[in-house]
Amino acid sequence: MHNIFAKPLDVIKQWPSMGPIASQRLFNTFLTNRSTLKDLKKLVDFFEKYETCSLCQTPLTDSNCQNCMALKHAKKILIVPHILDFLLLCEDFWQQECALILLNGYVSPLYQQSPDSTGLNRALQSIENPDVPIHILFNRSLEARGTLWIIKGLLPKSTPLYDESELLGSKESLFVLSAKELESYKMQLQLKFSS
Ligand SMILES: [Zn+2]
Repeated sequence: MHNIFAKPLDVIKQWPSMGPIASQRLFNTFLTNRSTLKDLKKLVDFFEKYETCSLCQTPLTDSNCQNCMALKHAKKILIVPHILDFLLLCEDFWQQECALILLNGYVSPLYQQSPDSTGLNRALQSIENPDVPIHILFNRSLEARGTLWIIKGLLPKSTPLYDESELLGSKESLFVLSAKELESYKMQLQLKFSS
């Protein structure tokens, strides 16, 4: 019998992080619970409209980037390496006179990630006041160390720079933390801000 599932299964298999078993499992969910497909449509609609700011790379909610406006008057600037880190932090810190610089990963020659392709050059140029303290929320990986070293070279000497990498340590990103670890991370960060 012709396998009518082969084509859709092939599509799912191409998705990031999808192995053969995971794709079959997901396809089975779609088959047995078709209402989930409605949610998939919502996801597609979302991504069709999804845009990020060309300067700071944060998601745009209207034509003026709120984060770029915040960057002009921020009391602190946080540099995060991944969009998921941004998602986990923005609710707590965006409103507290913090602005964010969101990178597209760490600078890494191994993965062909340059200061341009990560958005680092553009973002640092958008900082108007060189006296605003910058907190670097990286991990302790080699790529993160390298990226921090590049940031130090690109910023004016007078800019206060705080390396908060020991908070995340060897963990890959904020996204891998459990809810409890994330809560503790945020609390430690708040403590550092108030000290
Ligand atoms: Zn922006």
